[in-house]
Amino acid sequence: MNGWGRWVSGLSMIRDIESQGSLGLVTSGLGNTGNCFREYFMHKFRAMLGKNRIIFPGEKVLLAVSGGPASSAMLRQVQEGLSRETAKKLRFIPSVIYVDEGAVRGQSPAQREQSLACMETLLQATGFPYYLVHLEQELLKLFEAVQTMTAKEELLQMLRTHLILQTARTKGYTKVMTGETCTRVAIKLLTNLALGRGAFLAVDTGFKDNRHGDVMVVRPLREYMAKEIAFYNHFFDVPTVIAPPLPTKRRDKPSFRHVVESFLLGLQKDFPSTISTVYRTGEKLSADRAKPSCEAERCLLCLCALDLDGEEELALEPTLIIDEPELERNGAERKSAYIPLLCYGCRLTFKELGPVTTLPPYVRAEAQRRIHSAEMQQQNQEVPPEDKELSKS
Ligand SMILES: [Zn+2]
Repeated sequence: MNGWGRWVSGLSMIRDIESQGSLGLVTSGLGNTGNCFREYFMHKFRAMLGKNRIIFPGEKVLLAVSGGPASSAMLRQVQEGLSRETAKKLRFIPSVIYVDEGAVRGQSPAQREQSLACMETLLQATGFPYYLVHLEQELLKLFEAVQTMTAKEELLQMLRTHLILQTARTKGYTKVMTGETCTRVAIKLLTNLALGRGAFLAVDTGFKDNRHGDVMVVRPLREYMAKEIAFYNHFFDVPTVIAPPLPTKRRDKPSFRHVVESFLLGLQKDFPSTISTVYRTGEKLSADRAKPSCEAERCLLCLCALDLDGEEELALEPTLIIDEPELERNGAERKSAYIPLLCYGCRLTFKELGPVTTLPPYVRAEAQRRIHSAEMQQQNQEVPPEDKELSKS
């Protein structure tokens, strides 16, 4: 039997074991099948990078690892890939970044310390350089003001991305690798449609995301099913550290993502091609609409091209009205002054945030800069050219 044949028979064996519910007992006896599974897994990873040809030999690549199953499997793939014989060796230079989100996930200082220590041991064992960065305690205020789980998840994802990109930039990395699986991509596609981010589906879920210009995000695991990852981690003892979910109150409704996830995974049970069908639909999308033509046309939060023109904006106005206390209505620190700087999807998230003073300083600084330059532009337009001439004489 050739490698692929063995792998296929291995897969059906896994299904049998799974249906009998006794996975733990049999895996140690996998032998050759285990080896084939390992080869298949590694081949898929290399093929994904090879097909796209965007990571160059010697390039510095930052692996974003959360400790979850997918990104941990990705880390193992890179380790394996670097230890291969010359012909099959990966040739980029990896480092790892871990974002500690314990503060917003409601962990106590002791719990945070414990999970950080776990993560650090795991990262040290890889022998790669690594960065531990923290979503700061101050952001807690920003999170507490947010009402819905949907907006909380969106916000967390944005802040995490900002932090990873900022680290990549300052430390000289030109690529960031993240661990979204095919399952995750399918869930994200449908969630983002529901969130009004239809124009950005391709950059939000595609293999490469180059909306940021200088640093490109790549998603090399997007053809793996979550189940494959789970088996791989199980067979080859890939260590994981699971972060606690975002804290919820009893009256909280589940997030869009959560609803879409249960819907898709539920369908997948009876119709096993559900996830891959949704995934493949996403493959047909173009990334062009998300590319901004200049810096001022980028959404302040998600950095995609602003997707609204004047008329659409007027039509949407009633859903986006923001109640602001009288005190905050002066100057550029008004919440409403930020609205034109955001895409439609981010406006919905932004609406739920507290005062803009709780936003991270780099977001506020960028907003100030843009509001100011828009005002200058407007002032210049308001003075007709003749008057300018007259005032000179
Ligand atoms: Zn946005």
